[in-house]
Amino acid sequence: MTPASGGFAAAASKEGGIPVRERYEHFIGGAFSPPASGRYFSNHDPSTGEPFGAFARGDAVDVRRAVEDAAAGQSAWMAMRPAARGQVMLAIASRIRRDLDALAWLESLDSGKALWLSRLDVETCARYFEYFGGVADKILGEVIPASNEHLMYMVREPFGVTAHIIPWNAPITQAGRGAGPALAAGNAVVMKPAEETCVTTLELARICVEAGLPPGAFNVITGYGEEAGQALTSDAGIRKIAFTGSVETGRRVMKAAADRVVPVTVELGGKSPFVVFDDADLDSAASLARKAFVLNAGQICSAGTRLLVQRRCVPAFVERLTRELDKVRIGPGVEDPDIGPVVSEQQRQRVERYIEIGRAEGARLAYGGYRPADSRLRGGYYVAPTLFVDVANSMTIAQEEIFGPVGCVIPFGDEEEAVRIANDTQYGLAAGVWTRDVARSHRVAGRIQAGQVYVNDYQPIGVEAPFGGYKNSGYGREKGLEALHHYTQTKTIIVRTAPDGATAG
Ligand code: NAD
Repeated sequence: MTPASGGFAAAASKEGGIPVRERYEHFIGGAFSPPASGRYFSNHDPSTGEPFGAFARGDAVDVRRAVEDAAAGQSAWMAMRPAARGQVMLAIASRIRRDLDALAWLESLDSGKALWLSRLDVETCARYFEYFGGVADKILGEVIPASNEHLMYMVREPFGVTAHIIPWNAPITQAGRGAGPALAAGNAVVMKPAEETCVTTLELARICVEAGLPPGAFNVITGYGEEAGQALTSDAGIRKIAFTGSVETGRRVMKAAADRVVPVTVELGGKSPFVVFDDADLDSAASLARKAFVLNAGQICSAGTRLLVQRRCVPAFVERLTRELDKVRIGPGVEDPDIGPVVSEQQRQRVERYIEIGRAEGARLAYGGYRPADSRLRGGYYVAPTLFVDVANSMTIAQEEIFGPVGCVIPFGDEEEAVRIANDTQYGLAAGVWTRDVARSHRVAGRIQAGQVYVNDYQPIGVEAPFGGYKNSGYGREKGLEALHHYTQTKTIIVRTAPDGATAG
């Protein structure tokens, strides 16, 4: 809660809309449902460090029940006409928008995210249901002209029950990003949110069922990764897994999927380059650089944290960026600052450890590197925006994902060197290119190994554009029509149409 709000429940009820529960249970079969073990775990409000809410600590027994209910929910969902399924998804989108303020408020309390950003995230979640709801009756098959004696056609079918494991940095958008295409394709969903941020995923599932989704088609199991998450990836009823999180956990999930021969898509980390050539509009580049690594306190997988700047314009760029960082207002998420805290004390310590490593390895700290001095913020997990300059791409802070508001300025000489440094990383999620030279912008965008490249912009929001990684940033794509293919499997049907007795050709 915010220092002024008087507690989680008080703050949320002040906002109205969605009542705050003292205790959050799983959401299974269309209703809140206690854990079989009777065990709960508690969370902390990142803006204050105070405890709030108890959440069901799920295990394999709860997962089994959710998967069984999902199987029944999937049959009911598939019994509806595709157009009717699309209409339910559009109804969900409008319910999400109706509750936008309340959901955003809950998201900010739970995650520490700035309220304006939570509002954008809730709207994006609504867009996922709208976008994928619109294609629920347009998932087409094909006729295959391979024989004159047969009718051959291919249809796209759902997998059945899909598992979705999501992280804490954008809970409600990531819930929508997975559930939208999975449901549109006719699957039923069992989702496990990160233990730090469960509230809006649970409320989203409730809204879906209230808007007409059959009970069981969207279930949420809360709990720890090694317990509930692992049980979900190992459950015999899961036919596809979508994982978003760290590379380390992604590897574990892929191994679990391999054991069961289940398809898996993984959206993992990033260390994205933000490449500024000396002919760029430096004011815009500096302003967007701030967005690239400071937005959401740096907890964005596609954050542009490696600021590759052409040597001649480093001083001018750093001066502008420093002015931009001076403007950043930091505070409790629900007070609507520019950025809130990071999600947990553990995460803050991780970020601070990297800041120490940066100093020790010889990078020059040009901005921040400390906890904000404001005494009101003492209890929360705040880190000031931090900028290192004179960074070599081989340094730890340039190679490892920090997931905090820390940027590194890495100078380069020419285009060739820029591309080499940009690609010299285990990751390949996103990239930015800043130049007024149109030919160069296409050339460099084409050579950078990343799933999304922005030219003279950074992270423009959109549910329509496929998103996903090269290299260790993962494989498979979320968003856009591309995502649908990961939630369907094809079946080819071959019917002999030649008259009886005719020889098949
Ligand atoms: P994490 O890997 O620690 O946890 C992610 C999820 O996996 C959580 O729900 C967690 O409970 C669960 N989990 C943990 N162990 C598990 C196991 N053994 N089996 C099954 N599930 C398990 O990641 P995090 O720290 O919550 O999130 C930060 C990471 O997520 C960063 O690396 C970030 O880049 C990445 N991320 C990627 C994208 C993307 O789209 N590429 C988006 C957001 C975040």
